[in-house]
Formats: sequence, structure tokens, C-alpha cells
Amino acid sequence: MAVVRTEGLVKTYGATRALDDITLTFPDGGFFGLLGPSGSGKTTLLRAIAGFVIPDSGRVFIDDAPVENVPVEAREIGMVFQNYALFPNMTVAGNVGFGLEVRKVPAAERKRRVAEVLDLVQLGELGDRKPHELSGGQRQRVAMARAIVTRPRVLLLDEPLSALDKSLRVEMQIELKRIQREVGITTIFVTHDQEEALTLSDQIGILRDGRLVRHGPPREVYDNP
Ligand code: ADP
Ligand code: ADP
Repeated sequence: MAVVRTEGLVKTYGATRALDDITLTFPDGGFFGLLGPSGSGKTTLLRAIAGFVIPDSGRVFIDDAPVENVPVEAREIGMVFQNYALFPNMTVAGNVGFGLEVRKVPAAERKRRVAEVLDLVQLGELGDRKPHELSGGQRQRVAMARAIVTRPRVLLLDEPLSALDKSLRVEMQIELKRIQREVGITTIFVTHDQEEALTLSDQIGILRDGRLVRHGPPREVYDNP
């Protein structure tokens, strides 16, 4: 789908170097787990890729095209956050279809694509429900559906499972991986749960104090201290 690459990204907040020279390639269609303690720069890196954070220096490329001149809404990036942030007064189908409506996709096609993606996340029967009528795991699926319905080239997940209890989280890890494989989308997944990152990721990067201290396939990262 797309290769995401950062080159020498630096972002400072006063004396804090939130990102300290991050050069990293996120492979096409892969699942990249970004690990590190709280405050290590994970969220800042995701936001820089999405365009919500403008780096002091360095650049972000998608398929070798620098994204700094691409408006945020045209970056073809889907995002899912820890708190889902669904629209509470809209139905599930309305939430999922919102991004298509914004893009002026005609109603008939919108309906078809919403139904298709709701099937993919196994919520085919629940399109008419409101978010408060769903379980936490179901809401998380809606957030995934909403992020991928516009067929973005890159999926950014910021601790999307951390609000769920342990057993549901494990179930959703399997589900997330299945969806990601099926859609084949380049995915960057932030977590501070090492086990979760190992379960899901083809490649792992570890941040500490804004620096990339280690990266590679999980086995290489953890077998060579
Ligand atoms: P986490 O550690 O769970 O990633 P944080 O509490 O570090 O979450 O950050 C939550 C939000 O607040 C983020 O959007 C981050 O950019 C912002 N933020 C973090 N630290 C500061 C700060 N010192 N001043 C202003 N905003 C901050
Ligand atoms: P993580 O996601 O790994 O918890 P963040 O990217 O949220 O880390 O934050 C990295 C560092 O940058 C932290 O020291 C945080 O306090 C700081 N920071 C992040 N966003 C802001 C902000 N908007 N204003 C000031 N400091 C921030």
C-alpha cells in the first residue's frame, strides 16, 4: 500500500526533545509496533506522520513523496485512538460513513462500503445501534471500521486497546491483526505493552527520550541485548 519513511525528525518542546533525530522506515503493508515508556515520544512521532505536529527539522515521506506539502486531510491516513472518540449521537453506520460523506461519496456507494467494512469487523448486524449500546470491544471495532472505510494508505493506532480489560484485549489483538492482514495496510501501532507488540508486529522500534534506541524484527530486537 505505502512505505512510510521519516528522515532526521526533530521536535522540541522547550528543553524537551520529544523527537531526537528519528530516521526510520515502516515497511509496505507491514505491522510496525512502536514501544517505549510514557513520555518517550511515541505519540509525537505518530502525530508528526499524520501532520498534526510540524517537526522542527526532518521530513516524513509516503512512497518517497515528502508529505509536508500535502494537507492533513489529503494524507490518506486512518487513525484510531485509545478513547475511540465516536460521535455519540450518530449510529454505528453513521459514524463509519462520516468520512465518506465528508469526501462526497454518493449515498449508494457509501452504503455499500459501510456495509462491507462493518462485515469485515464483524458488526454487520449492528449498524443501527448507537455507540452507548455497544460493548468496549464493539466500539473499538467501529473505530477501526471508521479508520479504514476511506481506504487510507497508512493506519496509525495509538494504544487502541489500552482501555479494554485483559481478556478482551487479547481477543481484539487477534481481531486487529486479522483485519490488518485482510486490508494489507501499512500499520504503525503504539503501545507500552511489550507482549502486545511482540504478538502483533512484523517490526518493532523502541523509543527512549525521543531517540530510536533499537529497531528490527521482534526476535532480533529482543535476542541481542
Ligand atoms: P501518554 O504518555 O499516555 O502518551 P501524555 O500524557 O504524555 O500521554 O500526553 C497526552 C497529550 O498531551 C498528548 O497529546 C501530548 O502531546 C500532550 N502533552 C504531553 N505533554 C505535554 C506538555 N508538557 N505540555 C502540553 N501538552 C503535553
Ligand atoms: P509518549 O507518547 O511516548 O508518552 P509523547 O510523544 O506524548 O510521549 O511525549 C514526548 C515528550 O514530549 C514528553 O516529555 C511530553 O511531555 C512532551 N510533549 C509532548 N507533546 C507536548 C506538547 N504539546 N507540549 C509540550 N510538551 C509536549
